[in-house]
Amino acid sequence: MSTEFDVAVIGGGIAGASAAAELSRTHSVVLLEQENELAFHTTSRSAAIYIENEGGPVFHRVSTASRPFFEADHPELDAPLLDPLPVLKVGDDALVEEFRTEAMAAGEVTSSIRVVEGAELIELCPVLRPDVVTIGMLEPTAASIDVMALHQLFIRRAKANGADVRRGARAVAMTRSGGQWTVTTKAGEVTATTVVNAAGAWGDVVATMAGAQPIGLTPMRRTAFTAPIAQDPAAWPFIYSAIEGTHCYFKPEAGQQLLCSLSDETPSDPCDARPEEIDIAQAIDHINTISTLGLRSVRTTWAGLRTFAPDRNPVFGWDDTVDGFLWMVGQGGCGIVTSPAAGQIAGCLIRGEDLPESITEFGLTEAALGPRRATAAPA
Ligand SMILES: Cc1cc2nc3c(=O)[nH]c(=O)nc-3n(C[C@H](O)[C@H](O)[C@H](O)COP(=O)(O)OP(=O)(O)OC[C@H]3O[C@@H](n4cnc5c(N)ncnc54)[C@H](O)[C@@H]3O)c2cc1C
Repeated sequence: MSTEFDVAVIGGGIAGASAAAELSRTHSVVLLEQENELAFHTTSRSAAIYIENEGGPVFHRVSTASRPFFEADHPELDAPLLDPLPVLKVGDDALVEEFRTEAMAAGEVTSSIRVVEGAELIELCPVLRPDVVTIGMLEPTAASIDVMALHQLFIRRAKANGADVRRGARAVAMTRSGGQWTVTTKAGEVTATTVVNAAGAWGDVVATMAGAQPIGLTPMRRTAFTAPIAQDPAAWPFIYSAIEGTHCYFKPEAGQQLLCSLSDETPSDPCDARPEEIDIAQAIDHINTISTLGLRSVRTTWAGLRTFAPDRNPVFGWDDTVDGFLWMVGQGGCGIVTSPAAGQIAGCLIRGEDLPESITEFGLTEAALGPRRATAAPA
């Protein structure tokens, strides 16, 4: 088994997998995952939505830059990665101006986004209560993502390019000498010129291990669950409520079922996150306030950590003081949808190439995405 590589990627979630797939085209790569299975943490716990206008202008642009990959024909796959599912953000009278302003700005990047009012709201989702929900913002080109197929596609490509994927290989120490990292893991030592920090909620822990200054990442727990319903929701959009006091979302699924959440954000240490009953009870209450669904029971429950940088924008870039240390963290609630572009960004940075035009055309720069930026807002 080889112990010498160009790049050691730490983290076997969607971020590490996308980086390994891209980097292994030009470099020898080892992917190190602490758990005995890949994608064990946040990646396998998402709502699996491809939405472009989510997380603010920076995430919006990185998500949009990922669309060509999602829509491409991938010969390894039996089915497309995306299944069309419009997203309808709903509001009340207090949000009318905010929605109009947001739809105008978001429409500059995703032209299909528009405001919806009156009867059309209820036509789109007949269980919404018209006395509560009075305005909506529709992203008709959103979709459901086959997350596991996406993750497996990245891993399959990495392996086909010769990458070494190691499970049960938690990085526990890192030293740098003579332009090389030595990474000590639970499954032995490897050396690499570059380390990619794709450790999700553990991003600052891994950085500290490498001698880099933490950037102040905050993992935020979010609980999700599935609930049976009497209706067939196949024709409904994904609904999320921005109405004060009723924050929640629900996603139609096969088998007369919804995937639901309170959209909660509770700061947490990095860990194997567990669902909270109170968040489930509140989500049911909020969903029953904005709709006539009358949810009463749940089928399955889970929780995951959405990890944010202090400015809530993604961090893709070289550390400024520690050589050969690339950050790929802070993906918040958009790590799946942004993963194709994130992998491409990591590839460009490590190969010393300019960022892809799909990223720069919207005003995003290497400095703005890096870990020590003043602001990541597009110019
Ligand atoms: C309820 C919920 C809904 C969501 N919905 C969406 C959505 O609809 N669309 C979307 O795009 N995103 C969504 N997200 C967010 C998305 O899931 C995350 O942004 C994404 O999964 C983060 O991927 P990651 O690879 O950075 O992290 P992770 O998947 O957590 O992977 C990091 C990996 O690093 C490993 N690791 C840590 N430390 C070490 C170490 N020392 N050595 C080796 N390995 C280590 C961990 O074990 C872990 O497997 C949602 C998240 C939640 C919780």
